[in-house]
Amino acid sequence: MAYVIATANMKGGVGKTTLSVNLGTSLAKEHGKRVLIFDLDTQISATLSLMSPTDFANYRRRKRTLKYFINQAIQPTSQSKVTIRDAIHSSICNINGLDLLPGDIELYDEFVVAEMLHEKAFEVDKLDFEIVWNRFERILLRQILQPIMPEYDFIILDCAPGYNLMTRSALAASNFYILPAKAEPLSVVGIQLLERRIAQLKKSQEAEGELDIKLLGIVFTMAGNLITGRYYRQVMQRVHGDFNEEQIFKAQIPIDVNVAKAVDSFMPVVLSNPQSAGAKAFTQLTQEFLQKLNTAVETEQLASPSLAMLS
Ligand code: ADP
Ligand code: MG
Repeated sequence: MAYVIATANMKGGVGKTTLSVNLGTSLAKEHGKRVLIFDLDTQISATLSLMSPTDFANYRRRKRTLKYFINQAIQPTSQSKVTIRDAIHSSICNINGLDLLPGDIELYDEFVVAEMLHEKAFEVDKLDFEIVWNRFERILLRQILQPIMPEYDFIILDCAPGYNLMTRSALAASNFYILPAKAEPLSVVGIQLLERRIAQLKKSQEAEGELDIKLLGIVFTMAGNLITGRYYRQVMQRVHGDFNEEQIFKAQIPIDVNVAKAVDSFMPVVLSNPQSAGAKAFTQLTQEFLQKLNTAVETEQLASPSLAMLS
């Protein structure tokens, strides 16, 4: 069964998508893992980092994007027969084991979702609206992912900034989340905000059973001259004050124009320019990711011997 990993931060432009596509690509290319990159952001940056706009337009015309599965979940009576396997773009960038589920510039209408859940709450189940909403949030992405879970080692959910229905549903479906943050003082606020939101999400989901999600680590991205500077040290001190050593990735991603330029060739920098500083940092980060994951899984098995017996 796949590990589901979300990359999330309340802030935009902090390198979530760049991390998702480079981590996913490295896992497939360097480590032979079966990886699905799942684009949950209507800015479709992950999609356009891995396929050309023409290919994307084709997929969209043929209704092969995330939008159609969300529609099926919102309106289960709809006639659409598209399955998630139909929409997955396999061996993207010609890498075996690297798949993409393209996002969409429109995903769902919050009003339609609210109306559907409202109807369900008051007419069908006579339940409190909040309970129905929380249940829907909990299962929306899980249901979409369920048929393909055995086919991957990792499913990477590239979340939108902010804290919308899809992000909450993604976090509720994830085993781990990675928090990319720029090495600047304000990013500490973004980290704290997301942590607070996740604590709230866990609480709101208590009635549906404990949420599994854990922080795998914070990754400092786009580190430039700040690395040796005063601001950087201030940020590090604050973050180290709030988190354990193991919760912060040692690998940091430097600012590197090759990382940004890679988007032009519709492939991540680990493919377009593997010798660049940015690509090397992502390769290192991927190794650390696998180590952290192993440690987290072992710790969990020790804490729950029944799990160890199963494995
Ligand atoms: P997010 O998903 O958090 O909104 P992105 O990954 O899309 O952030 O990154 C925002 C912008 O910064 C993009 O244009 C991307 O190409 C660029 N970028 C990301 N990481 C780097 C880096 N290490 N060096 C240079 N540019 C980067
Ligand atoms: Mg993004």
